[in-house]
Amino acid sequence: MSLAFDDYGRPYIILREQGSKKRMKGLEAYKSNILAAKAIANTLSSSLGPKGMDKMLVSPDGDVSVTNDGATIVEKMEIQHPTAKLLVELSQSQDAEIGDGTTGVVVLAGKLLEQALTLLDKGIHPLKISDGFDRACDVAIKHLETISEEIDIQANEHEALIQAACTALGSKVVSKRKRELGKIAVTAVLDVADLNRKDVNLDLIKIQTKTGGSVEDTRLISGILIDKDMSHPQMVKEVNDAKICLLTCPFEPPKPKTKHNINISSAEDYKKLYQQEQQYFVDMVKLVKDSGANIALCQWGFDDEANHLLLQNNLPAVRWVSGTDVELIAMATGARIIPRFQEITPEKLGKAGSVKEVQFGTSNERMLVIENCQCTKAVTILIRGGSQMIVDEAKRSIHDAICVIRNLIKDNRIVYGGGSAELACAIQVLQYADEVSSVEQYAIRSFADALEGIPSCLADNCGLNPITSVAQAKARQLQENNHRIGIDCMELGTTDMKEQRIYETLSSKKQQIQLATQVVKMILKIDDVIAPDDY
Ligand code: ADP
Ligand code: MG
Repeated sequence: MSLAFDDYGRPYIILREQGSKKRMKGLEAYKSNILAAKAIANTLSSSLGPKGMDKMLVSPDGDVSVTNDGATIVEKMEIQHPTAKLLVELSQSQDAEIGDGTTGVVVLAGKLLEQALTLLDKGIHPLKISDGFDRACDVAIKHLETISEEIDIQANEHEALIQAACTALGSKVVSKRKRELGKIAVTAVLDVADLNRKDVNLDLIKIQTKTGGSVEDTRLISGILIDKDMSHPQMVKEVNDAKICLLTCPFEPPKPKTKHNINISSAEDYKKLYQQEQQYFVDMVKLVKDSGANIALCQWGFDDEANHLLLQNNLPAVRWVSGTDVELIAMATGARIIPRFQEITPEKLGKAGSVKEVQFGTSNERMLVIENCQCTKAVTILIRGGSQMIVDEAKRSIHDAICVIRNLIKDNRIVYGGGSAELACAIQVLQYADEVSSVEQYAIRSFADALEGIPSCLADNCGLNPITSVAQAKARQLQENNHRIGIDCMELGTTDMKEQRIYETLSSKKQQIQLATQVVKMILKIDDVIAPDDY
């Protein structure tokens, strides 16, 4: 696009390849953007809450995944429309920052856009809508803080943390096992948490999936589990007081580069070359052993020749250790990652209490556990399940739970779920709207309506009548001045979310409302879309 001037100095716009571009301006642009983004939100809305539906997504090469996780759904939907992509990013930024609440944030953005559309139809200027939403958002956030409660994360064997984890897991495919999985997640996080600094390094929790068994067989292993075994079946199965040599160079003689030739003209020459090669192996193994290492973990492979030599020299070794495992092992055992054999020195070895092979179930498959690492504690959650689809979804769900627990360790304030927090904010925002005399009051009221959209969506998804349930909940919140009344999704007979112990972190709710408002404001600012014709 470029700006040009005609003979009279009047400006006009030149679009490159005008014929092949599509251009939308003004109201038409606003509306088309909003409709595209709303389509995404509508798809997700049926997945919200404990009775939300799952989505089955098939990738172009036929991989099937079944998931309830908002961020995963939008990521796999392969969305083309540029504004709809903003919602994908919205879900992902919630995922990156908070980890949970990735569906809710998109649904809320969708409700806000729906309201914006009606306001535009009424003839209200997009900037006024934006301003109103912004002010309402501030009010909602402030109110969230006043209704939040601090919980004691230590009390009662970390019961509050377990409950929060259960709330996060309750809407997932693995919800039947939420209590067990929640406990595993809490123990894992507390194992690696630094409670004084209120910090958790989630890199120290490795989540390993292995198909087979069932979800109940999921367990926590105190140590690093790697899905590999010793490179030779006759090597020792357990190394105690391990001194680990962590190699990122291959156990093989240097290969001639492409531009070099080796001319072998006689049997003599061949023998020499062979001997030289053998010498390389011998030297390499010697370098490792001389440093005092009693096990070698190698990011690369090595051939049978080397494997045999390692066995002969009593040096147990593991090959094809993945890059992320190498980093984790380095962090936990204090090992330096060694890229060249010449650089091996005793100080660079990592130390761990033991490295041993373990076997799971009745299958022959073995894995290695590195326990009692010298530097930091690292743990592994081994997820089992009948199929790849199940273990993948379980992994995503446990990730959500772990994030919730980490967030609570960082900031132990919670609000109650089941739509009660959103409803309480909506009531507050409505009151605020009455104090505003300018046009923005319409937008502020609409913001409150959008917030009510969350409990209404939850009710809808569990087969309740959304209008009556939200109206009843709202009436009770006002009458009893009780901000904990929400939607009784599981039909437990009480709408008080404190009694149901549905805990959500304050940080997650705040982030949801803020991010959703931000994206909607951004979409409302776009009044001109210039795109190739095939969009
Ligand atoms: P997200 O990806 O946004 O976390 P979820 O599918 O996990 O989406 O649903 C979260 C919503 O469901 C929250 O609003 C939460 O308060 C609500 N929720 C979760 N468990 C319950 C429950 N047992 N009863 C009522 N509401 C619940
Ligand atoms: Mg959730």
